[in-house]
Amino acid sequence: MTTLLGCIADDFTGATDLAGLLARSGVQVSLRIGIPDTPPRDTAPFEVIALKCRTAPVAAAVSDCRAALSWLQAAGASRFFWKYCSTFDSTPEGNIGPVAEALMDDLGCAQTIYCPAFPENGRAIFMGNLFVGRQPLAESPMKDHPLTPMRDSNLMRLLDPQVTRPVGLVDRLTVARGAVAIRDALARLGQEGVAHVVVDAVADEDLDAIAESCRDMPLMTGGSAVAMPLPALYRADGALAADAPRMETPVLPRAAVILSGSCSAMTNAQVAAYRDTGAPALRLDPLELADHGHQQALDWLSAQDLDKAPLIYATAEPDSVRAAQDRLGRARAGEIVEEALAACAMAARDRGARRFVVAGGETSGAVTQALGVDRLDIGREIAPGVPWTFCETGGHRIALTLKSGNFGAPTFFTDALEAL
Ligand code: ADP
Repeated sequence: MTTLLGCIADDFTGATDLAGLLARSGVQVSLRIGIPDTPPRDTAPFEVIALKCRTAPVAAAVSDCRAALSWLQAAGASRFFWKYCSTFDSTPEGNIGPVAEALMDDLGCAQTIYCPAFPENGRAIFMGNLFVGRQPLAESPMKDHPLTPMRDSNLMRLLDPQVTRPVGLVDRLTVARGAVAIRDALARLGQEGVAHVVVDAVADEDLDAIAESCRDMPLMTGGSAVAMPLPALYRADGALAADAPRMETPVLPRAAVILSGSCSAMTNAQVAAYRDTGAPALRLDPLELADHGHQQALDWLSAQDLDKAPLIYATAEPDSVRAAQDRLGRARAGEIVEEALAACAMAARDRGARRFVVAGGETSGAVTQALGVDRLDIGREIAPGVPWTFCETGGHRIALTLKSGNFGAPTFFTDALEAL
């Protein structure tokens, strides 16, 4: 069906986060990995394009986002959402502001809002200042981020050098008075020529009021949470028909494989918990892989009963990761593991696996690339921020869940398999 809302996300996990929150409403959401190279076909009411432009040079980010906008316009969307991190990850050059301004120019719109608040995850904005839990952004661990160190907590000051037009604020005192008050304040700012408006939000009710007041803006920008109320708002006023396509849960063969390349503390706990269930499991050692390749893993996999959902993991404790990195170098150690897990994914698919659980952000990138997956239809959430998705690979429909780092409970792997 024609797309209602077209979303552009500046990284992959940000896109899955947004797609998952939109899909909580039960509406059909489709996530594209990169800008599709074919014209829109078979589109969902909510489309999310995942880009990789958070820290790209400004000109490249702007040109990617404009190309994504054109594709979404061709899909029929007339409202758009620019999604960035809830910690406003950016530098004085960009890319949040320059992309927003370019999209506004293309859409001919004079004003947009900036609302990275995500109260459920402890991100709140008060008087234009962003908090991470109880800490101002600039006192949070984000101050030491390797690529986008956030050394100021004030969103107006952060945004100002990134844009050419005036920046303003709708503060919490207004937001607390509801959607009409917010709309009036935005109109007043518009008359003063304020194009870029930071909007305070400390609770979900604030986001509901903001989404209600801005739902017809051609462009909204923010974290994922402020977009979450939109499907229900579109449904209430008929923009989203009652019989619009719903999220699907296809029935797929049981054959499954679990591939884990994340070394986060939570993934280590998840691997241990899954091993404790007695399920078949193979540990990959990067040093072994460097010396002997990954044929042994493929041989092990080919002897497994995929109905028992075997686990192949490189997940290891920090000491062991460090040892591998010291010998191979950080990048090479990562690549070797990603190549092995990607090869296992293809082999499992060719042997009939139709359910894939993947742990690790980079690992997910390697696996989706190997499987040639470019579109994910979002399904039911397994854990906050981690939905099942459905996609095509090698002519087969499969279920795929991509879990980054610390997401999910210790029982995530069994939770995922049981949720299908
Ligand atoms: P996360 O989402 O937890 O950050 P990622 O998949 O993004 O997980 O990153 C983990 C990186 O560590 C990947 O590049 C992976 O290949 C690499 N890796 C996995 N296991 C090991 C290991 N035992 N030693 C060294 N590197 C590893």
